[in-house]
Formats: sequence, C-alpha cells, structure tokens
Amino acid sequence: MNCFECRQLSQTVRTAEAVCRQCGVGLCAEHLRVETTELHHPAGLGRSTSRLPARRIVCPVCEQAERSE
Ligand SMILES: [Zn+2]
Ligand SMILES: [Zn+2]
Repeated sequence: MNCFECRQLSQTVRTAEAVCRQCGVGLCAEHLRVETTELHHPAGLGRSTSRLPARRIVCPVCEQAERSE
C-alpha cells in the first residue's frame, strides 16, 4: 500500500506505514498522526495512572475534521 496523501498532494509514491483509522487511507511516516485515547479520558477517581493509552492513527484530513467539530 502507498501513502494516499503523498499521491494527492505531490503525485509522489511513498510506502505507507500505517492506515487511518477513520477513513482507511494508507499513510507514510510524514502524514500519519498518532494519538492516544488516554488524552480524552479525564483523570479522576484516583486511578489515572493505571490505564494504558490506546493508540490511534489518523490522516491529516480526519484530524482536522475532528478538531472542527
Ligand atoms: Zn505521505
Ligand atoms: Zn482519514
């Protein structure tokens, strides 16, 4: 699989290293956005350090779409 963003933006081909969880496009290291769901959990109840963050990878387009909500 190749990076969808590289194809769209500059017509170049780069090997994808991950896949956007939202829309499923292939993403190279430059275009993938790694997020952890831990950031969205409010710390509380005295157990904030016991939870391991889950990883979540999105493309720049989906990242922007989420932030505009
Ligand atoms: Zn790319
Ligand atoms: Zn996406």
